[in-house]
Amino acid sequence: MRALLIVDMQRDFCPGGALAVAGGDAILPVINRMMPHFELVVASRDWHPEDTVHFERWPVHCVAGTPGAEYAPELDSAPIAQEFLKGTDGADDGYSAFEATNEDLEAWLRTRQVDDLFVCGLATDYCVRATVLDALARGFRVHVVINAVAAVHPDGPPDGGPHALQEMKDAGAHLLHSAMIRAPEP
Ligand SMILES: [Zn+2]
Repeated sequence: MRALLIVDMQRDFCPGGALAVAGGDAILPVINRMMPHFELVVASRDWHPEDTVHFERWPVHCVAGTPGAEYAPELDSAPIAQEFLKGTDGADDGYSAFEATNEDLEAWLRTRQVDDLFVCGLATDYCVRATVLDALARGFRVHVVINAVAAVHPDGPPDGGPHALQEMKDAGAHLLHSAMIRAPEP
């Protein structure tokens, strides 16, 4: 089984938000077009407490229950079967969707016999990267949709978007364009 995981497509990460990623909104139509090709679509959300060590590193963003933590309005959220809330603890960053506390992402995927995890969303060099590396470490086949991610530091060094994509590839992720994705044969 294949699943699409949409990472952190939230208002605060899109232009106009508290921690906007350049081009964060440009990937939304790509994600909306991909969803019908998957039997399973899940999403993570950054869901922080008001007080967290995370905000020593980043501007305040995606505080649980606030408008900034909502999905970007243009995202078609209807196909999302389950969401995974992460960064909920005040003691760490919670970059990876596998750190979700409302549901166990790995167990959820395994119960549904998911072997192939397709990952898109924000941001390439933080939450996408951490999620992909965690998924690989747990034995999933991971596919990163390169035209459906965007980086906080798109121009790279030392640890921006291009470096993160290379790092994910080196760790075993398959990088592909959304045009390569088709619905499975019936
Ligand atoms: Zn965060």
